[in-house]
Amino acid sequence: MTIAYVGIGSNLDDPQAQVMRAFDELAALPRTRLDARSSLYRSAPVGHADQPDFVNAVAALETELSAQQLLQGLQGIEQKHGRKRSFANAPRTLDLDLLLYGSAEIDAAGLQVPHPRMRERAFVLQPLLEIAPELPFDLARCRDQRVERIAICREGRRYEPAVEGVNHSGRKRAAQLHAPDLGVERDLQQRALRRLDDHAKASFIVP
Ligand code: AMP
Repeated sequence: MTIAYVGIGSNLDDPQAQVMRAFDELAALPRTRLDARSSLYRSAPVGHADQPDFVNAVAALETELSAQQLLQGLQGIEQKHGRKRSFANAPRTLDLDLLLYGSAEIDAAGLQVPHPRMRERAFVLQPLLEIAPELPFDLARCRDQRVERIAICREGRRYEPAVEGVNHSGRKRAAQLHAPDLGVERDLQQRALRRLDDHAKASFIVP
């Protein structure tokens, strides 16, 4: 059994619904269990700027699939969402990236793990650290990127509608509510909250 983290992104055809559906489809992969799902975040597009904002999230999976099998599963889910590969950084109904597969380091044709660009992307690190604050990553390299939490998941379900302009204390309270549901121990939870604080100072949109 390996813990794997999957980055999820969408900016076409009701992105929030695409991401929520993706969580269910990840949970339905063979020999795989969905362990945790992050809140949903909104981020500005990287690279090709003339396209809608993205909705991003991260899922933690426990899987018996190999990394290659898991990647195939992810690509199958992307296909179901009508994903067309046009050009790099193009708009997309669903993008699934295998971020981490246990502690494996893989550099094969068609699969690099840890995902080569994850350390530079706040829209990956922010949701990843929300559900796995013990991982040795920080947001130092992407402080200028704007990522806003727009919905919070609880007990495997989104329970709060997308909120624009929620103030930071509201977000922090929500994180306090959210973290115990993920089974995060108290000190890890505190670290997650501190990170949220730090990042909020740097780049959250605080009204
Ligand atoms: P993208 O356009 O971001 O979906 O990139 C998909 C391509 O990246 C596919 O050809 C994959 O084989 C390749 N790839 C390499 N490493 C990974 C990874 N860790 N997760 C997802 N796709 C990967």
